[in-house]
Amino acid sequence: MANSSISKFHEKSKEERIKKVASFSGLSKEDIRILKNEGGIYFNDANNMVENAIGTVSFPLGIATNFRINDKDYLIPMVIEEPSVIAAASKAAKIAKKQGGFTMKVDNSYNIGQIQVVDVKVKSAMSSVMSAQKEILQLANSKSKTLSKMGKGAKQVTCKKINSNSGPMLIIELLIDVGDAMGANVTNTMCEGVAPLIEKLTGGRVILRILSNYSTKRLVRGTAIFDKKDIGGQETVDNIILAYQFAANDPYRAVTHNKGIMNGIIAVANATGQDTRAIEAAAHAYASRTGRYGSLTEWKKDKNGNLIGKIELPMSVGTVGGIVNIHPMIKICVKILGTKSAKELACIIGAVGLAQNFGAIRALASEGIQKGHMRLHAKNIAASAGVTSDKINKITRQMIKEGNVSVHRAKEILKEL
Ligand code: NAD
Repeated sequence: MANSSISKFHEKSKEERIKKVASFSGLSKEDIRILKNEGGIYFNDANNMVENAIGTVSFPLGIATNFRINDKDYLIPMVIEEPSVIAAASKAAKIAKKQGGFTMKVDNSYNIGQIQVVDVKVKSAMSSVMSAQKEILQLANSKSKTLSKMGKGAKQVTCKKINSNSGPMLIIELLIDVGDAMGANVTNTMCEGVAPLIEKLTGGRVILRILSNYSTKRLVRGTAIFDKKDIGGQETVDNIILAYQFAANDPYRAVTHNKGIMNGIIAVANATGQDTRAIEAAAHAYASRTGRYGSLTEWKKDKNGNLIGKIELPMSVGTVGGIVNIHPMIKICVKILGTKSAKELACIIGAVGLAQNFGAIRALASEGIQKGHMRLHAKNIAASAGVTSDKINKITRQMIKEGNVSVHRAKEILKEL
């Protein structure tokens, strides 16, 4: 089995890193050429993707090492502008790997499509809809030959009543297995496709026909053990649990705690071309499911005093559709992960979220994050002080040695040189 633990990966040159990743993931010569040329998209691609395009913006792509998820090793591509995130994920994964890595589970890729019906006698309309379930599902499934052939597609119809200031409404929900896609478009197409039938059955007026991004039927959940010996002993374990309890009981802390989780989740989602807004929106709604915003993870200790982390959140991702099969770098990132399945990708992203949370709360509950963060951030500080790349390492080293990482100090050292 390929091993995701690559000694001193961070000390290697760009060429050496690409070589290691290419041999781990079986990248082609063309993939390597694109990676080396930092192949993003060209203006024409951008112009096809969005309106009023005037250019493109690029972000760093890094690799988190050491991940073992469901007994398989992964090198994880992460696209993020914030320093420390990739290093922290790699470090957390290294510790988790000693105990077998991350054990993740995921639901089928069930999307929820909503159809809003107004001007309707809700009770009798509900019973008409429920008795025509089979006809509705058949009509919905006629809109996707691909999903039907795969035995996926619309599986269930449910109804609910909403009381609003504008009167009662009937909401009809389609549960749709969208396979390896995020499935927004197929869900919307099915909802629009059945709307005329719904109007006929209910005698009401359909307004919205759209995917719900609150993908609670598409949860990923998982766990990892972090040995107390590897994380600074029992006191650190206990402090991490206290840090988690703070997040679990205070929304002001929980938002920051979950932001740390999203550092990992969104970085992998960016690298693999996912709809990050959909993931964020669902995650924060899920964090509020009890009526109070809380933590997306849970931390406790086992009978030996080792730390156990758990994560659970909606994860609507795809390995087909959107820009996944269009953007050259994203295609390579998906290849680096070596997965073609949306469910496997959801497990990977969930595991990185848990690793990232561990990295953050461990640092917070021990030495604090600023020491490590500022060390890694020093290069950004030097660059914003106008230091050119030939002097950046020297100035960064000196600022770290002095314990004074600031734009002001970088400018002073630059003058002294
Ligand atoms: P898509 O529209 O490209 O559809 C995926 C295609 O892949 C379908 O045609 C399907 O038939 C095909 N396919 C091939 N093999 C498949 C397999 N194994 N499993 C499933 N489908 C397979 O992509 P999408 O996932 O429907 O839509 C994603 C895009 O829609 C994203 O860019 C997202 O930002 C956007 N979007 C989001 C929302 C929202 O979140 N509310 C709304 C509209 C659009």
